[in-house]
Amino acid sequence: MTVTYDSASQRQSDDVRAVWPAIKKGLRTRCPKCGTGSLFNGFLKVNDTCGHCGEELHHHRADDFPPYVTMVIVGHIIVFAMLHMEMAYEVQPMFYLWTMVPAAIILSTLMMRPVKGAIVGLQWANRMHGFARQPVGADGI
Ligand SMILES: [Zn+2]
Repeated sequence: MTVTYDSASQRQSDDVRAVWPAIKKGLRTRCPKCGTGSLFNGFLKVNDTCGHCGEELHHHRADDFPPYVTMVIVGHIIVFAMLHMEMAYEVQPMFYLWTMVPAAIILSTLMMRPVKGAIVGLQWANRMHGFARQPVGADGI
């Protein structure tokens, strides 16, 4: 039986996709396959295809996971900083309002793109969702 694939990138995807390199490329907001093409078109909109290698990127299903991961990371940083200041110094409560709230907003904004890129890279490397090879006709089409 002959199996055909619906794109050039899927034909050559019999190789193993390394997870950590794909995550690192995503952290740099680059295509998880080639590491050169830009992953995003806008702030958080993922390109449908890589402008450099043509890899299809529209299969990602990052959804709410990047904000969740960002909140966990930023939350730990903020809580650690607050606990440290609370134990080391005598801090007024309004100080936290004027420092930690902007810090949380700025850190979250800065981390969202790399975290989403890493998650798209993770999905790509593990062939999750549409990143898996799909032979033409496998779904009856
Ligand atoms: Zn690429």
